[in-house]
Amino acid sequence: MKREFAVIGLGRFGGSICRELSEEGMEVLAIDLAEDKVNEFKNIASHAVIADATDEKVLKELGVRNIEHVIVAIGDNIQASILTTLMLTELGVKKITVKAQNDYHEKILNKIGADQVVHPERDMGKRIAHNIISNNILDHLELSDDHSIVEVKAGTKMSGKTLVDLDVRANYGCNIVAIKQEHNKQINVSPMATEMINKGDILIVIGADKDISRFEKQLVVDDD
Ligand code: ADP
Repeated sequence: MKREFAVIGLGRFGGSICRELSEEGMEVLAIDLAEDKVNEFKNIASHAVIADATDEKVLKELGVRNIEHVIVAIGDNIQASILTTLMLTELGVKKITVKAQNDYHEKILNKIGADQVVHPERDMGKRIAHNIISNNILDHLELSDDHSIVEVKAGTKMSGKTLVDLDVRANYGCNIVAIKQEHNKQINVSPMATEMINKGDILIVIGADKDISRFEKQLVVDDD
């Protein structure tokens, strides 16, 4: 079933969302002030229109209120981003995702009713920093200020041990929720306690940052 989306602002971020949604077969209305941006997406999105999203009349004419999920990806113009978001909430759009430029912008967007505020540069920066600090942290997803999900690569210290042997939950307070097995490229979600870990397997671990950090320092040491 096709779902309807609108992407407002077709810069690097909005453009990439628009491209991906379209490639996944979704119905996307692409909106930008700039003619060249709109031309670029004419053959990619289902509809691409030149419009100023801060103009309420225009949003109404485009039928944005009937679109299930609107993504506001207006770049540097924070005022336009806020105004557009406010109008979308007033129009009663069901789900609004907005890209924030900074923490103040994010605070305001949350206050005026954005359902999801994303901060791609900051979030990607954090993920890369975690990856730089430890070669074994392949990916890091922040769940809250002090909880995360991480992907770590099992080294020799864990190899040949079962989840019972390691007893990560009792010893470190975090949980291994899935194992991507290196030898057969299978992903084992909610692994059994008797599941054996092998070097090179990727473990998906959830927990408090301090617990994950202890687990990582003691068990996921670099050994390549
Ligand atoms: P990024 O950092 O994602 O590359 P940009 O600042 O390059 O962001 O892109 C933001 C896009 O938003 C630009 O293409 C710009 O024309 C568009 N834009 C800015 N203001 C409006 C507006 N009021 N209505 C529609 N599009 C807008």
